[in-house]
Amino acid sequence: MTRQYELVERILSYQPNANEALLNRAYVYAMKAHGNQKRASGAPYFSHPLEVAAILAEMRLDDATIATALLHDTIEDTEATRTEIDALFGAEIGTLVDGLTKIKKLDLVTKKAEQAENFRKLLLAISSDIRVLLVKLADRLHNMRTLEHMKPAKRKTIAQETMDIYAPLAGRMGMQWLREELEELSFRWLNPDAYATVLERLKFLRAQTQGLIDEIHGALTSKLETAQVKAIVAGREKKPYAIWSKMERKQISLEQLSDIYAFRIVVPQIPDCYRALAVVHTSWHTVPGRFKDYISNPKQNDYQSIHTTIVGPRHQRVELQIRTEQMHSIAEFGVAAHALYKDSGSGKKVPAQDSSAYRWLRKLVGILLEGDNPEEFLEHTKLELFHDQVFCFTPKGRLIALPRGANCIDFAYAVHTQVGNTALGAKINGRPMPLATPLRNGDEVEIVCSEAQSPPVAWERLAITGKARSAIRRASRDAVRAQYEKLGREILDRAFRRRNKSVTEEAIKKGLPRLSQETIEEVMTAVGRGELASDDVFRAAFPEAAPEDMRKRRRHVKRSEEGWFGLGKVMGLKFRWPGSSGKGRPEQAAGIPIRGLRSGLPVNFADGGAVPGDRIVGILTPGQGITIYPIHAKALKEFDDEPERWIDVTWDIDEDDPQRFPAMIAVTAMNEPGSLAQIASVIGEADGNIQNIKMTNHLADYTEMLIGLDVWDLQHLNEIVTGLRAKDVVSKATRAEG
Ligand code: MN
Repeated sequence: MTRQYELVERILSYQPNANEALLNRAYVYAMKAHGNQKRASGAPYFSHPLEVAAILAEMRLDDATIATALLHDTIEDTEATRTEIDALFGAEIGTLVDGLTKIKKLDLVTKKAEQAENFRKLLLAISSDIRVLLVKLADRLHNMRTLEHMKPAKRKTIAQETMDIYAPLAGRMGMQWLREELEELSFRWLNPDAYATVLERLKFLRAQTQGLIDEIHGALTSKLETAQVKAIVAGREKKPYAIWSKMERKQISLEQLSDIYAFRIVVPQIPDCYRALAVVHTSWHTVPGRFKDYISNPKQNDYQSIHTTIVGPRHQRVELQIRTEQMHSIAEFGVAAHALYKDSGSGKKVPAQDSSAYRWLRKLVGILLEGDNPEEFLEHTKLELFHDQVFCFTPKGRLIALPRGANCIDFAYAVHTQVGNTALGAKINGRPMPLATPLRNGDEVEIVCSEAQSPPVAWERLAITGKARSAIRRASRDAVRAQYEKLGREILDRAFRRRNKSVTEEAIKKGLPRLSQETIEEVMTAVGRGELASDDVFRAAFPEAAPEDMRKRRRHVKRSEEGWFGLGKVMGLKFRWPGSSGKGRPEQAAGIPIRGLRSGLPVNFADGGAVPGDRIVGILTPGQGITIYPIHAKALKEFDDEPERWIDVTWDIDEDDPQRFPAMIAVTAMNEPGSLAQIASVIGEADGNIQNIKMTNHLADYTEMLIGLDVWDLQHLNEIVTGLRAKDVVSKATRAEG
């Protein structure tokens, strides 16, 4: 615990005219007021305000701020009153402590509906005097440093709030070290697994690159010395959250992560920055696209530096920041640092009220005061508190913090995975908007859900948050599987019905071992995917029924000397051999001698199938049989030079005993939930049988597939194709050749 005299001495070291008596009074008063109160850690409560004061002394803040820090919890937690504080310490400190008391009530709000209002109050409280914010941030920092003593559930809530509100606020106020420490502390509790993983990787890289920091440090220092640039070089390892957020931002894996060292070159004057830059850039290769000059173009929060990345001595990427001493203080201490350079009339070092970060805050609050209600304020002011984040609200007022560029899809998943998975549309500020609309600060977002909905694959590309992306990937995988399963069930239903059986759990279960599948769902899915034939499932389910049924199916197969073939799917086809002499059979053309071939010669259809109505031709493959092609099939081209293999065949359909024939169609369907089911139902309703479905190209927005069908004839096939084209989910449907 910091001691009273240590604290006072530290303050006197940078503010020699500090009111020592005031500081001592505040110290004693707060210690007495908190009395025997204990912190969660068991330490005396007073250790907390004292450490907060010490943090602010590190930031070299004025005596009034330090006194406020010592007193910051007294009104809220002890018998102390505003009147008493005013009387003992003056109105200036009284107002500051009162501001902190007001914010204290905002902490850890459990009712999400109050968050928008609370955020407004927070801004109001900190805007009356920036020192209120500085004490508040130091207060939060100390609480975060001692977070392990809190109960786990509370830890997460506090860490989340710190990550969402206080860390960005510190960053926006230009206090980078504070933002960084708050983020690192929050990260540890919010995502312990990721934290541990990054630490592990750091340990590995550290072992790999032993001595590298010293090596780079030495190389930089000597090069700068040679060029006579006066500089202080400091190297450090990046922190876990900094590494993690970079991985998320750049979508790189931990294994790809190599540049873990960052170096800073601090020089006296601006021209020295550019001299140092010249030394660095002429000594090592630079990584393209990584050079940024924030000296000529300062950031909104006054941050200035030159950033560059070089390929260092051991071919290691090294990030470099080059800045002056003054820039360095501003980068580290932000609004607080201005105290060092601006001297108010009284000789006291009060944080400058005219820094651009502070001006920004004043402006924000000005607009806030004009507005009637917080929602309106947030909507109209384009609140730019967190330059890398947007803050939006649910209709009930719950605050949802998202990275900049996030849209309603990210929002929906941030609210709840189930909300994302069932999202159908969005209303932004009451107006229906596309889900992909990027969100702006203060937007109130209502997600319209439908239980029947599941996220389209294309969303994965639209979402920018990792949470949304992984949830979409998972959900669309499940949805696709469900579609296949449904399709498989339909296919089996038809196949079984045709044989007067029905698809029962019992029947399929019995067939599982023979099908080498574990569950009924797996069987359905495999059939839907076309990996398992419905026939096989039928035979596995009804091994005893198979022979009889198969015989029934082959009723029409005639093996005769008349040139009838009817193997498998070719039932009802009559072949006329070109060049045949007739021999009493006028339908047979003269040509290939028919006798040696006609019986037992296997006949099959080309992949694309052929149906009555098509003009057809057979291609003879010696030793294999005859393949039937529609005459328009492009595949026939390859037989152009082999006329001897062409066999003239014609259909000969028995009107009284119609048969189905195979055909293939190519369908391009939008990746919408249920699209496959819609396609299947169009085909089913038109009395077509789906034999298999093969996805030929699965893209983000749509899927191209080939569907093998059994149809009656060309007219029937055309009806199915037309029916498919009429569906919104189908962008293209044509006959395919296989
Ligand atoms: Mn406190």
